[in-house]
Amino acid sequence: MCGIIGYTGRKEAEEIMLDALEVLEYRGYDSAGIAVCGPDGSVRIRKCAGRVKDLRSLCEGDGVKGACGIGHTRWATHGGVSDGNAHPHKFGKVTVIHNGIIENYKSLIGKYGLEGELQSQTDSEVAAAVLSHFYNGDPYAAIRKTVLKLKGTFAFGILFDDIPGTIFAVRNVSPIVIAKTGEGSMMASDVTVLGQYSKDYFVLPEFHVGVLKADGTELYDMAG
Ligand code: GLU
Repeated sequence: MCGIIGYTGRKEAEEIMLDALEVLEYRGYDSAGIAVCGPDGSVRIRKCAGRVKDLRSLCEGDGVKGACGIGHTRWATHGGVSDGNAHPHKFGKVTVIHNGIIENYKSLIGKYGLEGELQSQTDSEVAAAVLSHFYNGDPYAAIRKTVLKLKGTFAFGILFDDIPGTIFAVRNVSPIVIAKTGEGSMMASDVTVLGQYSKDYFVLPEFHVGVLKADGTELYDMAG
């Protein structure tokens, strides 16, 4: 198991996500990381093997400002425990956190010509690369086409460089709960994190797209 968190709203995302990742530590993990979408739209990533407190130290020295972000505690299944294999993974305009296992990641590497293009050994970065392959400005189409190609289990939090302030979520088996709070929208692996912010939450149905914006949440089926 691992933990995922996402926040978009009016507050600084970094602090909210670091606190949330600490709450999720009980799920077990070996690495931690966050990606924050800055006011200029650029996505910046901080991640490392080790504990959430190591990530916090990294951020204290070199933090990431912005009110929208995704965070992850990793339990390595594909690729060793290293800074580079920690999530989030960015490929092209797409930044991803992933909980689960993409069983057919090797065949996807061949099918989409990703040999030599990847920076990590994870199955998760392959999913980011496939999303990037299909992304041409329509996030729903890219997500729909990608999940149809994936075999395995997944809970994804996704940022697109050119859609700042918005988090997309999709899942199969692995859990995602989405909440509307007074200060923005949040997603997480379980309600233990969200309870302190909101009582207004729902479990994202499998193969649906959850959209988190500062002023609310939206839910789409795969047909849009
Ligand atoms: N399979 C992915 C990896 O090894 C995600 C593992 C997880 O759920 O933390 O990076």
